[in-house]
Amino acid sequence: MSLRDIRHWVFDMDGTLTVAVHDFAAIRVALDIPPEDDILTHLAGLPAEVAAAKHAWLLEHERELAVASRAAEGAVELVRSLAARGHTLGILTRNARELAHITLEAIGIADCFATADVLGRDNALPKPDPDGLLKLASGWGVSPSQMVMVGDYRFDLDCGRAAGAHTVLVNLPENPWPDLADWHAPTCSDLLDLATR
Ligand SMILES: [Mg+2]
Repeated sequence: MSLRDIRHWVFDMDGTLTVAVHDFAAIRVALDIPPEDDILTHLAGLPAEVAAAKHAWLLEHERELAVASRAAEGAVELVRSLAARGHTLGILTRNARELAHITLEAIGIADCFATADVLGRDNALPKPDPDGLLKLASGWGVSPSQMVMVGDYRFDLDCGRAAGAHTVLVNLPENPWPDLADWHAPTCSDLLDLATR
């Protein structure tokens, strides 16, 4: 299958469509989370009141990052080009949906995504769980094998593989996970070339 033939595209947001700014090590320190723990998994295991307070801190911290978002190289052109060809586009992020909207507005591509097709951590089990991709597939009435998941981290690729979707790794100069990525593009500009070739 060629990327040209895929009409249903799902993007990770932070670090994929935007320049990565999250300092996850600093977030772990601020929330007293062990360095080796996954942040969302750790919060899910805490007593409800403690978890709620830490989620509130995280939301405020990420809101500041969202407002100041900058687009990754070629991301706006990629998304606009796919939208102009009538492709169906979604977002699957471990960020909050509300902040995903702020981010997409900030980089000027919010109009390319239907609100219901932007899934955050409150709308689906977090990646690498395939839940979000399966929800989008079902909402769009397509098989996951007709979709591609685009991301900058192995969770995005694991999620795509687990759902049975195609996978693209972007924004890393080399591909550390060749077994998980069907395609690798060093930037979104390169991905646009691959998708229109
Ligand atoms: Mg990312």
